[in-house]
Amino acid sequence: MLKARAAIRNVQEYHPPLAGRHGLRLDFNESTSGCSPHVLARLRSLDAEALAYYPEREPVEAEVARFLGRGPAQVLLTNGVDEAIHLLCSTFLEPDDNALIVVPTFAMYAIFAAAAAARVIEIRAGTDFLFPLDELLAAITDKTRLIAVANPNNPTGTAIAQDVLLRIARTASQAAVLVDEAYFEFHGETIVGHTGELPNLFVARTFSKAYGLAGLRIGVLVGDADQMAMVRRSASPYNVNAVALAVLPEALEHQSYVEHYAAEVRRNRTLLERELGSLGLLYWPSRANFVLVRIGTDHAKFVHALRVRGILVRDRHSDPGCEGCVRLTVGADQPTRTLIHALREMVEELGLGREVRV
Ligand code: PMP
Repeated sequence: MLKARAAIRNVQEYHPPLAGRHGLRLDFNESTSGCSPHVLARLRSLDAEALAYYPEREPVEAEVARFLGRGPAQVLLTNGVDEAIHLLCSTFLEPDDNALIVVPTFAMYAIFAAAAAARVIEIRAGTDFLFPLDELLAAITDKTRLIAVANPNNPTGTAIAQDVLLRIARTASQAAVLVDEAYFEFHGETIVGHTGELPNLFVARTFSKAYGLAGLRIGVLVGDADQMAMVRRSASPYNVNAVALAVLPEALEHQSYVEHYAAEVRRNRTLLERELGSLGLLYWPSRANFVLVRIGTDHAKFVHALRVRGILVRDRHSDPGCEGCVRLTVGADQPTRTLIHALREMVEELGLGREVRV
């Protein structure tokens, strides 16, 4: 009988709750405004010919490299950051190598590392999701071949300083160190300028969040040119589709649209955090386009009650250290007002905020 590899049989199935996402979608950290009208116009201008031929990635890759201030050999366009993670795992992980991650974090690091038959070592963040730098450094051995850190992190929204990341990359010189900057535009700090300087440092970016293009599946992986040549070997030459490649230059050119949206989200993040505070709910100050809030034992009831009101948010109760927590995506002004209004009603209805029980 045909049998999948043991590593694959051991991978936990990951089913994000995508079904029936009708209403105000504040559950996947997408943009609530969508992409710029210029991107949409370019998309609408595409004809049958544009789709008839295999996509050519390199010219667009060169534009993205210029935008990031890197050389074209340092940059690979990917099918979202998800593929960038997958490629790093297949390029650098041998069976039984160690992959270190700090939890709670984005699920796909553990999934792709486990699929490559590596041993995933999870290091728990400290109180208030404090980054466990000493524990992480202590866990680095000769077997450590991948370290993945989301900065800012998902689902916590917390960020760590550049010198911490550089210290990790210098300490684990035999490991690929991925700094996942999926939420860069809402944070404003990047380590991308250090790629190439440290040959084991990789940075991932996405067009799924601030650019409003999650459905097109485009991300970027940046690293040392020689290392990226190795990563390229495990990628399909057609990994990014023609539609994504056609609209990406428009998306890059109209930076003011992205900056405007990111600024709107940052303002609304402050507004939401202030509101959560005055409602007596415990939350963690965020550097991304979402806020993690501790609802307590009523977390599932809370998520359901919001869904009944047409607002989708994400229950993160099962993430390590996130007992009773729910993640709220922050979007444009109107969706934020709608969320805040519903939160006030929710606190009344469920009697939240007076005392947080886990
Ligand atoms: N990294 C992090 C930290 C994320 O939160 C997400 C999306 N939830 C991704 C990567 C996935 O990005 P993409 O859509 O580019 O695959």
